[in-house]
Amino acid sequence: MFLRYNNNLMNTLPSQLIDRFGRKVTYVRMSITDRCDFRCVYCMDEEMTFMPRQQLLSLEEIVFLLRAFCELGVEKVRITGGEPLVRRNVDWLFEHVGKLKQSTALKELNITTNGSQLTKYADSMFKAGMDRINISLDSLNADRFRELTRTGDLHTVLSGIDAAIQTGFKRIKLNAVIMKGRNDDEIVDLARFAIEHDLDISYIEEMPLGHVSHQRHESFCSSDEVLEQLQTVFKLQPSVISTGGPSRYYQVIGTNTKIGFISPHSHNFCDSCNRVRVTTEGRLLLCLGQEHSVDLREIIRNYPGDSDRLKQAIIDSMAIKPEGHDFNIESESIITRHMSVTGG
Ligand code: SAM
Repeated sequence: MFLRYNNNLMNTLPSQLIDRFGRKVTYVRMSITDRCDFRCVYCMDEEMTFMPRQQLLSLEEIVFLLRAFCELGVEKVRITGGEPLVRRNVDWLFEHVGKLKQSTALKELNITTNGSQLTKYADSMFKAGMDRINISLDSLNADRFRELTRTGDLHTVLSGIDAAIQTGFKRIKLNAVIMKGRNDDEIVDLARFAIEHDLDISYIEEMPLGHVSHQRHESFCSSDEVLEQLQTVFKLQPSVISTGGPSRYYQVIGTNTKIGFISPHSHNFCDSCNRVRVTTEGRLLLCLGQEHSVDLREIIRNYPGDSDRLKQAIIDSMAIKPEGHDFNIESESIITRHMSVTGG
């Protein structure tokens, strides 16, 4: 379903976004580039065609858009991609989005990164008011890391993690997508690494987004299988803590580390969905696993500076937020866009 904005202007704008199922939308994940320096096997195809630059929202347009969301009650923004830290002048963006905390509902500015550029950017991110960093790490073995990312260098990423810790970021979280036969023998080692470095870690079930070169159902590893392995080694206590995202958490007893599970297949989290995504070209996606969307770039470019019009389109979009996704690991992907376009 594609909602075209109809020019039916409003007098007063609500200060909160609520969809037709009564879910409050307070969280925006903003993809600022579809480009990435890695080609993770579950995320991208080996050969990728990236979007022409003029189709991407400019950094100024991104700030304008995020301001509109935050004036509509959005409290949390996550910058993602592709790899957000390969976007030119990204520190300008952090500085300007960080400032929205002073004048809007924004409370938390976060980022998801592959860590490859963190030695360069950790400091400026911290100064700009970035609150939390998620870093993807699927293996601690350099050869395997290269195989899974196709281009990545493990030691650069480990230095990036160190840089983020040294800069002062608290509760950094690792993200690991676990695939049978590829890295499921590292589930415990990854948790140990997190504990030793006083980090949190989430294990993610692979999602069928876009075409990749393996059959996803053959490598699928459920969160329950991951949990079972971890419980043979660590004492885990279910935690009520929520970071506002889809992870279910366990505390590793005797440590500060929380272990999270993102389980779109086995423990669907749609009931409590509080988020929307904006793609690199300004398409507002109401659900990760469906195509319901609104073209916000069209509004931003056709009506420059008209924040009320943009906000009204965002408010109207709540009427098409789907009840949930229909991920099915057994069938072909029904969603043809890769996670790198959507913004993971
Ligand atoms: N480049 C950054 C990174 O690597 O974290 C941010 C973008 S990446 C698309 C965001 C997250 O999505 C990563 O943690 C990645 O592992 C995850 N991801 C990508 N494709 C996925 C898929 N098909 N299923 C599950 N997780 C996926």
